Amino acid sequence: MLANFIYVRPKSLDEAFRYLSIQGSRVHAGGTDLLGCLRDHVFEASKVVSLSNIKSLREIKKGGQSGMRIGALTTLREVAGNSEVKKHYTALAQAASEVASPQLRNQGTLGGNLCQKPRCWYYRGDFHCLRKGGEECFAVAGENTFHCIFGGESCYIVHPSDTAPALGALAARIHIRGPKGQRSLALEDFHVPPSKDYRKETRLGPGEIVTEIELPPHVEGLRSSYRKVRARQSWDFALAGVALGLVFKGDQVQKARVFLSGVAPVPWRSREVEEVVTGKRLDEATVRKAAEAAVQRAKPLGQNAYKIPLLCGLIEEQLLAIARS
Ligand SMILES: Cc1cc2nc3c(=O)[nH]c(=O)nc-3n(C[C@H](O)[C@H](O)[C@H](O)COP(=O)(O)OP(=O)(O)OC[C@H]3O[C@@H](n4cnc5c(N)ncnc54)[C@H](O)[C@@H]3O)c2cc1C
Repeated sequence: MLANFIYVRPKSLDEAFRYLSIQGSRVHAGGTDLLGCLRDHVFEASKVVSLSNIKSLREIKKGGQSGMRIGALTTLREVAGNSEVKKHYTALAQAASEVASPQLRNQGTLGGNLCQKPRCWYYRGDFHCLRKGGEECFAVAGENTFHCIFGGESCYIVHPSDTAPALGALAARIHIRGPKGQRSLALEDFHVPPSKDYRKETRLGPGEIVTEIELPPHVEGLRSSYRKVRARQSWDFALAGVALGLVFKGDQVQKARVFLSGVAPVPWRSREVEEVVTGKRLDEATVRKAAEAAVQRAKPLGQNAYKIPLLCGLIEEQLLAIARS
């Protein structure tokens, strides 16, 4: 059952920051993740601050020389259906259309997708795990089928977002505003790995919110894609996923950005794959080498070694598909 809280809908960012400066306040965007967390008592909130009345957070400022800026409150359905996103930032459109179900994409926002809490059943369940202030990560000796194979260290969650790896592959920047002003971070610097702090998922400070996601201007020769593998076709989180942002000159890869989902506590940049494919034609030997390089540093737990061949196959298929597209 949900505990009582006060619900407010400020009309401006300044008003929102005033509410968010009160201890116990939580940002509410679409609420598809937040309300589940409150219902399951993952954390509590005395005040829920809805951003839904702040119109400026829902604008999409179109392309051109300065790239594209997508307001954090833009729904996943709007992102997936936007013609400019589909044409120039294909990986993002594909990732947004792969999130959950049509109902959740209608309600869930891009900003909320980046800031959502982990789906680990110990974290979400009735367990006082490390991330919730306890002493241990129960996944290490427990049920770890869906946990990470990279970057686990103390806590073995996987980052649940589909859009974050796509935004990483597209070199997006996250714009943040708070009581102390504004700043922006590259997508790969926005999420916090357990090695830095196992209590935090993002670098947002107290009272700060994500306002916009900025995509760089479209580059000639850029092709991008996102694909995830899940246990069920209806709606499900990624068991493994791969986002590619490759700049081709002819049939050769000039630049590569590769991010993996479903396998690490943060969107996982695979510099190993990037190194293998840069300067190469994506023939079968190269893509095999890239897939092998991707999993070299994998450290599976007791029940999730299946993610290694799954990821290898996915990377090979996606690299061959993008070369042929
Ligand atoms: C059944 C189900 C299936 C799902 N499947 C998927 C899936 O396949 N892939 C996937 O990626 N996600 C999935 N999700 C997770 C979630 O619904 C989506 O990620 C959605 O995009 C969250 O957006 P929201 O606007 O509803 O966020 P909210 O629930 O409003 O917020 C989520 C969190 O982010 C914070 N927050 C929200 N917006 C901001 C902001 N602008 N600035 C700072 N903090 C903010 C909130 O305080 C909260 O902690 C699923 C959820 C459910 C319930």
